[in-house]
Amino acid sequence: MFDATVFKEQFPLFKQPENRALVYLDNAATTQKPAVVIDAVADFYRTSNANAHRSSHRLARAATAVIEGARARARNFLGTSSAREIVFCRGATEALNLLASSLCQSLQAGDEIVLTAVEHHANLVPWQMMAARYGLVLRFVPGALGIPDFSCIDEVISDRTRVVSVTGASNALGLRSDLAAVRNAISGKEIVFVVDGAQLAAHDDIDVQALGCDFLACSAHKFYGPSGIGLLYGKLERLETLPPWQGGGEMIRSAGLYDADYAGPPHRFEPGTSSLAAIAGLGVAFTFLAQVDRQAMREHEQKLVEQMHKGLGQIEGVRLLTVPQNNLGIATFTPAGDWSAADLCLWLDQRDIAVRAGHHCAQPLHTLASVQTSVRASVAGYNSAQDIERFVAAVAEFVAEQEAAIPPNRAGTTIA
Ligand code: PMP
Repeated sequence: MFDATVFKEQFPLFKQPENRALVYLDNAATTQKPAVVIDAVADFYRTSNANAHRSSHRLARAATAVIEGARARARNFLGTSSAREIVFCRGATEALNLLASSLCQSLQAGDEIVLTAVEHHANLVPWQMMAARYGLVLRFVPGALGIPDFSCIDEVISDRTRVVSVTGASNALGLRSDLAAVRNAISGKEIVFVVDGAQLAAHDDIDVQALGCDFLACSAHKFYGPSGIGLLYGKLERLETLPPWQGGGEMIRSAGLYDADYAGPPHRFEPGTSSLAAIAGLGVAFTFLAQVDRQAMREHEQKLVEQMHKGLGQIEGVRLLTVPQNNLGIATFTPAGDWSAADLCLWLDQRDIAVRAGHHCAQPLHTLASVQTSVRASVAGYNSAQDIERFVAAVAEFVAEQEAAIPPNRAGTTIA
């Protein structure tokens, strides 16, 4: 059972007088935060503030308990076999940089890394950087217009493949990846399987053991948690052999002047003082989500995605790049007429409707689709059918206005 109105009640931002009429459809960029998460961040400073894992006084013990409590909840959320498999970091971007930098140290020139063309730059650029540094080869799952066809993944798996790193769902298209096909294609091979779970976590239940992945990255701010915090899940045996990425305090067993003996996971990968209050908020975000009927919320979001596609599909002058099937909550479109994505976003903003225009940090995908920018509307549990109605009607009104403004001899032309 899921009631979007009751769910929305928990988000203070929507209660601010200036936000009462807001239609927030930029959830793939970041979600809003429920009061319990905001309170957990403030309460950490009010009641438990001290550095964690260091001193032994009462407050320090309380801070450590908050951090380790959040780690235990992350373990439940992702179904990991041990809390030591959860490494806190700034977000999916940092998780993937950590992983690429550490993992690629042991690779040889000519070794191959398989990605897809729909990857967010966070799961593309770090591998490009490592490929340049170590002479590695990047290969991409084949597919029309860059959209991966996982039934063809075997074509890019070779005896030089060392890593396959794919997004759980495209942040530009909402399309879920066929992770089971990836798992089957690499099963029994010595290939590290990495999932960018940044978009999945808000919508889907994640069970890393069922997925069969070695690593998974996500960011709290995309699933109702605070910004600036996220995590990297890593299979314990993988983490144990992975070199640290950054050096600093609390990641060593012992340090001498010339070398150090590193701590085991997860602390080996968490040097320095973490964003402790944000971790407190992240822990509560897990509890918050655990209390939601996620299946019912997914069904609600699925209806909204269908409604968006149906409505936008009826507007001449809009070219949809997405389909509602297997889509976790995104409609993306480009002008099929003489108007600009950025102008539409400004226009919608003036009507208190928040969406995003741009390439959504998935520029190669846009290049392959021969478009520079697109408009992306992305839903969360607190969106309603009325939100989508207002959004679709506003897009229709804007497009009609633009068409009417075009001189008669140019009306009807389509730009690519
Ligand atoms: N991967 C995907 C699929 C994303 O959508 C994002 C955020 N847009 C990221 C990675 C990076 O996340 P963050 O900016 O929180 O590090």
